[in-house]
Amino acid sequence: MPETIFTKILRGEIPCHRIYEDEHVLAFLDINPISRGHTLVIPREPAETLDQLSAESAAAIGRVLPRIARAVLEVTGAKDFNILQNNGAAAHQAVFHVHFHIIPMHADGTGLGIEWRPGKLADGAELASSIAGKL
Ligand code: AMP
Repeated sequence: MPETIFTKILRGEIPCHRIYEDEHVLAFLDINPISRGHTLVIPREPAETLDQLSAESAAAIGRVLPRIARAVLEVTGAKDFNILQNNGAAAHQAVFHVHFHIIPMHADGTGLGIEWRPGKLADGAELASSIAGKL
């Protein structure tokens, strides 16, 4: 995988506002926050997208996400938040190293804006069984 700016942050070559780190995970403040407290949680493992990430790194992120989110909420005073995780350029991924955004939604309305376009589920049984068949 080609190196990204997050590789350099992981190596300490580029500064960041560090919030948490362990053997598998690093969390730091987003440099262009959508809202106050916007935090990124990344694996040390160099995977571009979530589907390429090992179960071990995924589990390590899953273990600390709620804890980091609680700390962000406590400090910023936000009660609501979004977890955003983009994969692929068409899905708005700009840095090709897996990362989870923690984006507080503040009382003044600053936070993640989402355009949600719900459709109708037509072939649920077939689709679910096809996906289940791959697991
Ligand atoms: P995404 O669009 O999901 O790939 O988001 C990438 C995020 O990385 C954006 O929110 C950027 O503001 C953030 N970002 C890029 N470079 C840095 C950096 N050097 N330090 C902190 N956050 C960064």
